[in-house]
Amino acid sequence: MELSYWELKNWFTNVDYTIVGSGIVGLHAGLRLRERFPNAKILVLEKGMLPQGASTKNAGFACFGSLSEIIDDLKTHSEEDVVQLIEKRWRGLQLLRKRLGDIAIDFKPHGGYEVFLKEDEIGFNDCVSKLPFINEILKPLFKADVFSKEVDRFGFKNIEEYLIFNPFEAQIDTGNMMQELLKQAIAADILILNQQTVTSYLDKGNGVEVVLNDFSFTSKKILFATNGFANALTKGAVLPARAQVLITEPIPNLDIKGTFHLDRGYYYFRNIGDRILLGGGRNLDFETETTTEFGQTKIVQNKLEDLLKNVILPNQEFQIAHRWSGIMGVGNSKNPVVTQLSENVFCGVRLGGMGVAIGSLIGTELADLI
Ligand SMILES: Cc1cc2nc3c(=O)[nH]c(=O)nc-3n(C[C@H](O)[C@H](O)[C@H](O)COP(=O)(O)OP(=O)(O)OC[C@H]3O[C@@H](n4cnc5c(N)ncnc54)[C@H](O)[C@@H]3O)c2cc1C
Repeated sequence: MELSYWELKNWFTNVDYTIVGSGIVGLHAGLRLRERFPNAKILVLEKGMLPQGASTKNAGFACFGSLSEIIDDLKTHSEEDVVQLIEKRWRGLQLLRKRLGDIAIDFKPHGGYEVFLKEDEIGFNDCVSKLPFINEILKPLFKADVFSKEVDRFGFKNIEEYLIFNPFEAQIDTGNMMQELLKQAIAADILILNQQTVTSYLDKGNGVEVVLNDFSFTSKKILFATNGFANALTKGAVLPARAQVLITEPIPNLDIKGTFHLDRGYYYFRNIGDRILLGGGRNLDFETETTTEFGQTKIVQNKLEDLLKNVILPNQEFQIAHRWSGIMGVGNSKNPVVTQLSENVFCGVRLGGMGVAIGSLIGTELADLI
């Protein structure tokens, strides 16, 4: 690549902070660095035409965990860990709303529901029996009961009569959120370059050599916010997890409003206006879905369509308008990895399935490592 004197001077000389990845975490890290260092040169490098991982692909649930997910997490994490994680998601959501504004992100506090299939009666009964305990451990944070039983009024089929309702859950417009974040980053004089893949880096002690495909430059510090693409960087602590999604054409008189969880969070659906967005099914084929490649598979898409027909919209005609996928970062713990890798190299990755909530906080924590 041949660069001019001006291009080198303005974009690639005296770079203080290079952020890799322009998702929720990368952009929040940039905004936080700008708050702390008003005169620094901050450069964001993004390999996609748009942020190209999970932040522009997700379902827009402003959530912090369904009842069954929380119960599930208690099997592998301590109670303290679980409550702390929920608190971080909750605080992250407040930060996101404060920074971007409810109007900009189209925040709709419709509440969230967990739906249990008839065939999962054992799971349902387990959740109901543990509901008072979970409410109790969340009381200090929410000052009210989070979960309650409610009769299904949405006309779902093949499910338990009762849903679990959470009034603190909401939905946002993911596209609006990311556009507003990008606008704020540009207004804060953060340089963003798209279609630039960082292929390697070398921490030289007094700075980092950042290598793009056919070009390199020096940055004082580098911050990786590459989430599902951070496997090599974190020596295997982060695995990619593809998530497939579909959306219907508008459905006349759709009476479903809110965010809905099914099967311990493996499926999720919501209304977007009068359409239904439905995603999930990674658990049908974990091996194939452990990938950084975007794409769809028959096994997952067929299951999603089956759920639409037989559970979510049993009495309505619908058509699928569009399908897509995104790449999440997961691992053996639900806690993100926010750490210093060497003198001038930092990362904030492994956001899991609730990065809309926790992402703003992790971006801030990443920036505050410096
Ligand atoms: C289908 C789907 C539905 C979801 N639904 C929800 C939801 O409803 N609610 C919720 O809270 N969370 C949801 N999530 C999770 C949430 O979207 C993520 O946790 C969050 O977006 C992660 O943000 P991030 O900034 O860490 O990662 P990303 O958004 O993935 O950003 C990482 C960026 O790094 C870039 N990058 C990677 N490697 C390089 C490189 N070498 N050089 C340059 N750039 C690079 C990528 O292109 C990408 O843009 C969902 C995720 C998916 C996929």
